[in-house]
Amino acid sequence: MIPGNLFIVAAPSGAGKTSLVRELLARDGRVRLSISYTTRAARPGEVDGRDYHFVSKEEFLAMLEAGEFLESAEVYGNHYGTSQGWIREAIAAGDDILLEIDWQGAAQVRRLFPEAIGVFIVPPSLDALRHRLTGRGQDSAEVIERRMAAAREDISHVSEFDYVIINDDFAEAVADLCAIFRTRRLLIARQLARHASLFHQFNP
Ligand code: 5GP
Repeated sequence: MIPGNLFIVAAPSGAGKTSLVRELLARDGRVRLSISYTTRAARPGEVDGRDYHFVSKEEFLAMLEAGEFLESAEVYGNHYGTSQGWIREAIAAGDDILLEIDWQGAAQVRRLFPEAIGVFIVPPSLDALRHRLTGRGQDSAEVIERRMAAAREDISHVSEFDYVIINDDFAEAVADLCAIFRTRRLLIARQLARHASLFHQFNP
């Protein structure tokens, strides 16, 4: 079995990452999304087990203590973590996995999986980011200002990633994201392993 690819997609809050990832998943049936654990309260419309596993701080800290997370981070005062067991099993089974995590988590994952492919999504401008965060209408002015400051910090880590997508035109950004996933699967080592019988026909 050829192990699956591990993709990390990171972005400051409001860059449009969730919509882009949703579209990627709709178009690319070979990618499976890791559902993170978080202590953040669910936003309207979010579903437990689909968007996140929503847990209490006590539950989260118990899982952390038990070593159940591949990585974890505190973002805007809430805890977030990626399940270790699920990821390792899925990759071993040959599935391509997508982690939607922040740059701190990405750095932790890269230490354990140096071959992980990092994609960073940025908004087209500071004004566009403010507009998107305000337009969402789900967070207070104070939270928005905190997220604006955090976005500058997030974007300062862009060079730790392999690919960057500027999310100005949504359709173009989706095409860029899909292209990254396709290209990685066409790498010679993967293609030789996946199509071994084809190459054997030519050179038995
Ligand atoms: P939000 O609360 O807006 O859904 O996410 C806030 C930030 O936490 C985003 O940058 C998101 O990528 C990040 N995040 C979500 N899940 C995880 C996770 O499991 N680990 C880490 N390190 N960050 C996460």
